[in-house]
Formats: sequence, C-alpha cells, structure tokens
Amino acid sequence: MKQKKASAITRMGRYILNIFLPRVCLSCKEDLDYMSDDPLCLDCLSGLEYLQKPYCERCGLPLEFSRGFCYDCEGVEHPLDCARSALIYNETLKPLIHGIKYSGRDDLAKFLAREMGKAYDYFPEIKDIDFVIPVPLHKKRLHARGYNQAELLAKELAKLKGLTVITNAVKRINSTPTQTQLNREQRQKNVRGAFKVIRPDLISGKKILLIDDVATTLATLDELAASLKEAGAAHIAAYTLAREPLA
Ligand SMILES: [Zn+2]
Ligand SMILES: [Zn+2]
Repeated sequence: MKQKKASAITRMGRYILNIFLPRVCLSCKEDLDYMSDDPLCLDCLSGLEYLQKPYCERCGLPLEFSRGFCYDCEGVEHPLDCARSALIYNETLKPLIHGIKYSGRDDLAKFLAREMGKAYDYFPEIKDIDFVIPVPLHKKRLHARGYNQAELLAKELAKLKGLTVITNAVKRINSTPTQTQLNREQRQKNVRGAFKVIRPDLISGKKILLIDDVATTLATLDELAASLKEAGAAHIAAYTLAREPLA
C-alpha cells in the first residue's frame, strides 16, 4: 500500500517535472515517455547495435567474414590479450558517448553500463579475471571533466556483475592530446609512456579486465596493457562500451 502511494507520487512528480523540463531522446530529440528512465526513445533503443560475430578473435574488430584474426592481429603479439565491446559505435550511440564525455552527462553511466552488462555474458573469454581497472584519465583532464567516464562505467558494471574495481594501481602521467584526428601510428606514438604503475604489488600475477568507453585502434589499451604486463600482470583483457568499426 505504502509502495503504491510512493510510486503514485513518483509518477506525479515526474509528470510535473516533464511539463517544465520535457526530456527528449538524445538521438532523435522526440519527447520521451515521462515514466521512462532511458535516455533514448523506443525506436532509437532498437538502433543500438550489439557487437556480433564475426569479429577478430583478439581485438574484437567487426569483420565481414569469419577468418579468425584481423590483418593487424594476425601473427602479431600484442600486450593486450583480448578485447571485446558491447556496442558498435553508430549514429544512435554517438550522442550518448558525446554526452558522457563532453557534456557533463555522468548520469548516462548507469544506462550505458547496463548495456555493457547485457552483452558481457556473451564473452566468456573476458570473464576469467581477478579485478577490473578503468583506463585512468590524466588529472588535468579529470579536473576539467569532473569525473572519469571509464571509471563510472566500470563501477556501474561491477555492481551489476559482482566485480572488483581497482583505481589506485596505475595512473596516467602524460596528458595526451585528444586522439580523434590521429591515425594508428600517430596514436601509438601519442600514448607511449602514458601510464605508470604505482602499485605493482596489486598487479603482479593478476588477470585484469580494462574498461573504457570507446575502442578505436586499441593504441591506448595496448599501451596500458604493456605497462601492466611489465609490472607482472599475467593476462590483460579489455571491455569497452563501444567499438569503432575501422573504415
Ligand atoms: Zn529517439
Ligand atoms: Zn584484430
């Protein structure tokens, strides 16, 4: 009875809020149902695209045909053992990623981590881990943004899946310029020496899952994995919210 009353008040509250502050779908800008917590309307929700086979066995790059590895992974040893993503970076997902990265929408972490949680169970290859490390931000960028979106995603995902998150083992010591305009070689050079393991005692012999928002060339994740392996990590996998299909 009490609960019924509370939810009626919640409904009323939301209804009133919606009159003053109509919430719109982040993708198509149509008004959202006032009872919905999602940042997308039903139509746009169905536009989210999950990563599906075939993809490269190592880096998770979507492939046209099933052939095991992509050209960059075939026959090459990388510090990062395996990477998977929940969603393909497409036009529906783009405004959500921009929202959490550049518009202070840290409230989106819950919804986005829920999407990561749904897809996580499809990837047994990244589930055998001791703990999770979100890709750290340099403190300058952390101050500018107010939060590390990778850390928010990791913490929400950890709640859903019962994982442990460690944030004090490694830090970013280089404030690398934004990478969006750079090609693969430039990105690799850009992130060289970007991370420093400050608690090797936590890392040594461990199987670690790195969490980030978007994977493009994996340059950042590979560099972080290299630092962790140098500190004695046994196995490094990565799980990102989105995967950019390379053109
Ligand atoms: Zn929409
Ligand atoms: Zn690959």
